[in-house]
This record gives sequence, C-alpha cells and structure tokens, in this order.
Amino acid sequence: MSTPNLQSLSPNLQSPPVIGVFGSGQLGRMLALAAHRLGMRVHTFSPQRNTPAGQVAEQEFCASYRDREEVRAFVTDVDVVTFEFENVPAHVAKIAGEEDVPVRPGGHVLHAAQNRLREKNFLAQAGLPVTPFAPVHSQADLEQALAKLEAPAVLKTAAFGYDGKGQVKIDDPAQAASAWEEMGGQAAILEAFVPFEREVSVVAARSMDGAFAAFPLVENRHAGHILDVTIAPAQVSPDVAAEAQQLTQRLMEALDVVGVLCVEFFLLPEPEVRLSTKVELPPGRLLINEMAPRPHNSGHWTIEGAVTSQFEQQARAVCGLPLGSAQQVRPTVMVNLLGELWAKGEPDWAALLAFSTAKLHLYGKSAARPGRKMGHVTVTAETAQEAWGIALAARKSLVGR
Ligand code: AMP
Repeated sequence: MSTPNLQSLSPNLQSPPVIGVFGSGQLGRMLALAAHRLGMRVHTFSPQRNTPAGQVAEQEFCASYRDREEVRAFVTDVDVVTFEFENVPAHVAKIAGEEDVPVRPGGHVLHAAQNRLREKNFLAQAGLPVTPFAPVHSQADLEQALAKLEAPAVLKTAAFGYDGKGQVKIDDPAQAASAWEEMGGQAAILEAFVPFEREVSVVAARSMDGAFAAFPLVENRHAGHILDVTIAPAQVSPDVAAEAQQLTQRLMEALDVVGVLCVEFFLLPEPEVRLSTKVELPPGRLLINEMAPRPHNSGHWTIEGAVTSQFEQQARAVCGLPLGSAQQVRPTVMVNLLGELWAKGEPDWAALLAFSTAKLHLYGKSAARPGRKMGHVTVTAETAQEAWGIALAARKSLVGR
C-alpha cells in the first residue's frame, strides 16, 4: 500500500514530508516514532552520533550547531525545521529563513525561551501571572533585588538552566556574595520563593491556522529537582484546570507559537491558607514557573493516555496539518527511569514487563549516569491512584533482585 498523500492537506510540503529536528534526545526520538506512523520522515541534527533520535530517524546529521554551512546543508534537505530542545543558536532559525524553509515554532519563540529574563519579561508584559522576579547582573543588583523580594528567594542563571541546574536558594541576605559567586558572573534572575502547594503543567498544541488543543492539567512530583512522577489528570478543581488551559492558550497566542508548548505552573494554596509571604502574589491560584516550546517530559503520558500524543501533535502542527484530539482516554501515571537504576547493573526488565499494564519506553542511551533520563514507564488504569501504585511497583521491581 502506498503512503497516504499528506500533500493534499498541506500543499507546501513534499509527500511524505521531511521534518528536520535540531536536537537528538528522547523528545526527538518520540517525535520520529509518531511522525513515522503518519508516514512522515525525520532528519536529526546534533553534535553527537548514535543518539536517541538519530537511531530511529531516516538521517542523523552530526555537526556543531555553530557550523553555519552544516546547518545550511541540513535545512535545505528538509521541508520544515523544528526543535526538540531550545538552546540552539539563533542563526539556525535565520539560516532556515534564508533558505525559505519554515521554522516552527519560529525563531522568536526560541529567543524568548532561551533566557529566563526574556521569558519572564514577555510573560509579565502579556499580563500572565509569573513568580515575582528581578534581573541580576551584579552583586549590587542581587542585594537590591533581595531588599525588594526578600529572602527566601531563588537565584537562577538567566540562560541554559534546566532540572534545577544553575540555581541557588537564598535563605538569608547575608548569602548574597556567595550566591552571586556561584553564578560565575553570568546574568541571573532572582525569584521570590513560592510556597506552592503542588506543581502542575499543561502541554498544548497550536496549528498554523490558530487552532488550539490542550491536554488536561497534570500534576508533577519532582525528586532532586528532576521530574519523577506525572499524574494525569491533576486532582484539582475544574476551575483551576480550566484556568491553566486558558493561560496556556493566551501564552501561545501572545507568542504566536505553532507547535507544542508546555507551561509549568506553581499551584498556590487557597488564599485563606497561604503561608505568609512577604512579596505580594497575584490573586489567582496559578503562577507560571517556566515554559518550554516543545513536547515535555510531563506530556509523555499522552502516548498511551490521550487520543493523540504530544509528539503526534507536534508532527501535525509543524507540518501544517490539523491537530488531533487532546482528550484523555484513561487516568494515567508516568514515572521516569533515571540512570541511578543502573547502579547495580542492568535493571530487571522481565520483572517490570511482568506488570502487564506497564508500558516501557527506553531511549536507547548507552551510558547510564545518575540523573540522566534513560526511559519512562506509563500505566493507565481505572483511577490515577491505581495507575500510580502499579507504576511505582513496576519501577521498584527493576532493582528488586
Ligand atoms: P526550574 O528549573 O526553574 O523549573 O526549577 C526546578 C524546580 O525548583 C521547580 O520545579 C521547583 O520545584 C523549584 N523552584 C524553582 N523556582 C522556584 C521558586 N521561585 N519558588 C519555589 N520553588 C522553586
């Protein structure tokens, strides 16, 4: 049987279309797997070889992001360019533009997401609720910001931070000098420490014609600053869930995002039980912590738990195709598999797979390091509680010998 002709739906693309992905980790891998199911092809670009995405893509391009000629050669061979991580140099989008290859989401989205200060300024200007913050370019700035926001507060590097890296909590203004030293002279941002009740997130997609589809709000539990468990849906009031989706839509429209984006929120306690914070927080219950203009770890559950996965949405959106339904099918829990699980040798996969409803995803990474995301497990069940119990037991069985 021949491949379905997607060209009729999206006339500017070859059939089947070729998606060029900058970055080659697990997000690119899962995008490629979803895109293949739609009959599309995927090329990846990153400085490494035999990568999680490259292993399953039609072509794995290995070069430095800084090598403009390699970037140009890559983009001229694909129909559309997208990203699976946001820290690629700005010239990537520029070169694609020069070669008339669409970049989705656009370079302006990458620009905003690459730097916490730009991101927070954009969100605040768009009238979206953000953690109170102040820019910090020197120790004097930090002392001033601490006088305004007051300790406790969190100092974060403005650029290239993820999973809690480049962050230091300041409990006392006397720590200003040592905290600034930890930033190593890099531009930073001071945020008020938010006494949140829980962390929640929304993953959503927006198509070229402005259609919007949000997955349900989910709850995220972290361990050591790294996502550990996602519970879908979050057990919150329908009002909070709807507000989170609306804020996500406002954000994606204000930034004109075509593709998939995740917004991570702090869920504040009810106003009457809020701990006393010295800084004033917005009246609603949600504060935006950060955004990622791509599929997100907290959306992996959608592969089994929703009608359309976040990766299929990304493939559809960036190729100019209609979005799929973001409706949840069943309560779902996802648990991450980090490198620690390899500490005593290869985990016991047969033990995990004996949990017949546990769906195992491994990313094809050869070296397991502590904190490295090696895979995840998803369980759907009648209730989120039940799914959670099975997912945790399944993960535990990996090292149970
Ligand atoms: P981030 O890399 O900014 O997402 O931060 C990683 C984790 O640190 C978050 O998921 C929170 O658990 C915690 N965190 C970050 N910023 C704050 C804040 N302003 N107040 C309280 N906790 C925070």
